Amino acid sequence: MKPLRLLVCLLFLSTLAFAQHKTAPPKKKLPPAKTVAPWEAIHQSALIIDTHADTPQRFLDENFDLSQNTPIADGHIDFGKIKKGNLGAEFFSIWVEPEFKGHYAARAMDLIDSVYRQAARHPDQMSMAFTIDDILRAHQQHKFAALMGIEGGHAIENDMRLLRDFYRLGVRYMTLTCSNTNGWADSSGDIQDPKVNHHNGMTDFGKDVVREMNRLGMIVDISHVSDATFYQALLVSQAPVIASHSSSRELTNHPRNMTDDMLRAVARNGGVVMVNYYSAFIDEDYRKAAYDPEKMKQRDAQVEAFKKQHAHADGSPVAYAEYAFIEKKWAEQFPRPPLKSLIDQIDHIAKVAGIDHVGLGSDFDGVTSLPQGIDSTADLPKITEALYQRGYSGGDIFKILGGNFLRAMRGVEATARRLQAERKEADALSFEDLELMVGNRVTTERLLDIIREHGVNFDLTPERRTQLKAEKADDFVLDAIAKARRR
Ligand SMILES: [Zn+2]
Repeated sequence: MKPLRLLVCLLFLSTLAFAQHKTAPPKKKLPPAKTVAPWEAIHQSALIIDTHADTPQRFLDENFDLSQNTPIADGHIDFGKIKKGNLGAEFFSIWVEPEFKGHYAARAMDLIDSVYRQAARHPDQMSMAFTIDDILRAHQQHKFAALMGIEGGHAIENDMRLLRDFYRLGVRYMTLTCSNTNGWADSSGDIQDPKVNHHNGMTDFGKDVVREMNRLGMIVDISHVSDATFYQALLVSQAPVIASHSSSRELTNHPRNMTDDMLRAVARNGGVVMVNYYSAFIDEDYRKAAYDPEKMKQRDAQVEAFKKQHAHADGSPVAYAEYAFIEKKWAEQFPRPPLKSLIDQIDHIAKVAGIDHVGLGSDFDGVTSLPQGIDSTADLPKITEALYQRGYSGGDIFKILGGNFLRAMRGVEATARRLQAERKEADALSFEDLELMVGNRVTTERLLDIIREHGVNFDLTPERRTQLKAEKADDFVLDAIAKARRR
């Protein structure tokens, strides 16, 4: 490329970067233009958001700290790799293994605590984020933003109050199921298993969970769910949904991947599908090899033997992090698919669902095999490079790397505000309610509290004022009513 054209290109890219962030972050100092390839400039100026990594298990069960630069074989994410890959924000998965039966919520709390403790230990490099604004602020401060998503609705133990508590603790998405069907939603992971009690999608309670998530502002994540659960969730949800870590079933025939029809449905909903990097979800040859029933039996037998040998004295389950090395070793017998398989997935979803509905959901620290060239978060630039070489523009790449997710989450936040305002409207006191309370001599103090909390749904006309005064409502109450009109 001629120097002048390169300069024009860089100027164009920095304009795009500016347009992507509502509040422009201070521009990072780029090395002199001649040493920077266009895709590198795109990658370095992007806000990159990954929506699924299982690192919290490592925090909790291995006492892993993000400041440790671990060998690639041991982990996909640490501060060194985050910096190299220019990862801006990560959704840490709060994944409760089904083995923790009877203690799902407690285990989820422990995992949540493990994320907060990382942020507390490294305030200079990392900050917790709960909103779009938090993500953008962290990015401006050159800090890594940590968010949390629950993987598997069994964590709420069929209790709507726990769902709200998890929201209060900062959880911003919930995958309705993991590979296990729970008390209110079917999973693709066991949909063929006749021993499992299925619900034909979701129960009424399950649909209420989706509604409550919409109201709270928790993103509905449809990765892992059965096809029926998927379509029902989309019918119920008023906000954009995401697939936090799912790939295309057209390319790789795994029931956990999404059909083209599902991709189009997510596009109509305004949501985003984040591509999972796991070899068996992105490459049909790898999937066929690794899902060989005999080979899987061998792996499962090794895991079972390890669990028996290393049973915990207190009876608590042996966690995945403890035996993950067995599965990793087992996976090494299958050749890793080429990077092209991953890029084909992004490309396919971008073509079928549209460029506005595709993103990144690595599943780092939760998978045993990744495509060639992608060993950890440090290799994210290779994805940008490959997309650029396929002809994706800087603007399109920004969307894939994080822009699409930001748009969807903004939609979720706006829906929550609307639903909460509507609920307030429905709760507001009518003139008759107030007449009754004044007539029943509710104290002024109590009346003021109630009016402030609920608001009123009527205008205080001079006639109504006279009527309430005749019932002995005092001026404080009348003033409060005049101010509490909800629209
Ligand atoms: Zn998963």
